[in-house]
Amino acid sequence: MTGIADGAGATGDDDWAVPGYPAVRTVGEGAGGRVVLARHAATGVPVAIKYLSDRLRADQEFLARFRAEARLLGDLRHPCVVSLYEYVEARRGAAIVMEAVDGVSLRELLRAHGATGPEAALVLLKGALLGLGAAHAAGVVHRDYKPENVLVRADGSSALADFGIAVRVGRVTEAAGTPAYMAPEQWRGEPAGPAGDVYAAAVVLFESLTGRRPFTGDDVTALRLQHLRAPVALGEVPGPLRGLLRQGMAKDPADRPGIEAFLTELERAATEGYGPGWEERGRRRLAELAALAALLFPFATAPAVYEATSALTVLGRLKRGGWQAAAGAAALALVVGGVTAATAGTHDTTTTAASSTPTGSGGTGSPATSSPSASASPDPTTPTAGGSPSVIPSADPSPGDPSDVPTPPTTPPTTSSPPTTAAPDPSTPGTVTIVIGSWHRGQNPSTMTADVTVTTSGAGPLTLTADFYAGTPDEPYGSQSRTLSGSTQYTVTFTADFSNHPCRGTWNVALTSSPESANGTQTAAMDAPPC
Ligand code: ADP
Ligand code: MG
Repeated sequence: MTGIADGAGATGDDDWAVPGYPAVRTVGEGAGGRVVLARHAATGVPVAIKYLSDRLRADQEFLARFRAEARLLGDLRHPCVVSLYEYVEARRGAAIVMEAVDGVSLRELLRAHGATGPEAALVLLKGALLGLGAAHAAGVVHRDYKPENVLVRADGSSALADFGIAVRVGRVTEAAGTPAYMAPEQWRGEPAGPAGDVYAAAVVLFESLTGRRPFTGDDVTALRLQHLRAPVALGEVPGPLRGLLRQGMAKDPADRPGIEAFLTELERAATEGYGPGWEERGRRRLAELAALAALLFPFATAPAVYEATSALTVLGRLKRGGWQAAAGAAALALVVGGVTAATAGTHDTTTTAASSTPTGSGGTGSPATSSPSASASPDPTTPTAGGSPSVIPSADPSPGDPSDVPTPPTTPPTTSSPPTTAAPDPSTPGTVTIVIGSWHRGQNPSTMTADVTVTTSGAGPLTLTADFYAGTPDEPYGSQSRTLSGSTQYTVTFTADFSNHPCRGTWNVALTSSPESANGTQTAAMDAPPC
């Protein structure tokens, strides 16, 4: 049982902050809780932290399900999905540490500009389907896909937010309008499956195309009837895209295409209707719309150190099949199989799942002991090392319970002042930290792309090298180097061609630097696609 499970944390504690992540400022406040832009103290990497509302924290059924989903979501790295780094529960609060997306919600774009135009709407749908498909493959259904939960970046790409937690929020705020995106089967009280996400994505397509929702009943009862029975007003939709809506918003989930089939249909309809350049034009249009809302971006008023990282999919090194410990970061967690669990002092119990927190300068704290009892929903396959709970040595110099350390500074920095007053030393890069933020197949499916963030304490030059290989380093697929200088944070993308790969095993990348990074070689791997 956790501190949450025994009810101790049911009352609010606005002062609680996840240790090791000083807050920068609040960027969102909604039914699910407060979203705060923060910084991982050890590496300077920006993150978004969602502090769950008291209502959610008090809901045991929700928490149990969310813990389980956090484990699955933590393994998911996809450019169209906001990455989850850590789920933390303590007596005084519960929070999700995630990738900070520098973007604006689709709701804001629709509110400001109305319909996006068909090509941009198609790009949004494609991003949604790719992200939802990745989540489904990982075993998670979103259940609350809607414009509020889509974040559009400055380059016109988009990412799904609010996974797992959304469903409960949607239920309790029914009157607030979430039902506008609910599939007929959800209205009938059936569990939401992948087909419900397809339906919601199609509803958002309609809204992006027309600037309004397909069904606008005055109350929940009217909306229910419309979703269950009323035909969609396809006359308002451009002719080439009517088929997509007819399929995606089919009343019977069995009549809706699966994600893959819907993507194929989308490509066909888009290319036939708008020509081969539709995607490029659509993305440019979205980038234009997002640029007009740039003042709403979380980083618009953040310290200069954040400006160098626009992609911001960052943090930690995810090992295939497991997580590395967060001990160096927040002194919170140990890895126990796929789940992290630890006690954090005598006053508080902290459970984290899906931890891929960067280790800063200290390597990866190896699991020394574990606290099986701290894991609220222990996986039967999870190895349980050790016996009695023990306190994890804190990276924070403050004595005492890490979750009771003085609240990190919450005063928003002034618009343009950088976080430090001293200019970085231009002659040396100082301490170098490499983080592979995301890795995925490139536009060309025989390529692998890795987005890498390098953080340094000085501004001097360093060389960053990516070595790609299939299976083991004995099968190299190219080595690429980049010289970096003049900043303390860099984002670099490397792509390698695996055209002649062996059709099995893994594609890998290993990142090193000269001078050597404090966190050593960073690697990432993905399954090789079939030939
Ligand atoms: P809820 O729907 O429970 O209020 P969300 O998770 O949808 O919470 O987040 C609310 C708002 O916070 C979003 O609309 C967005 O503005 C901001 N936000 C949420 N997650 C992130 C993130 N990962 N990066 C940047 N901003 C975010
Ligand atoms: Mg939301």
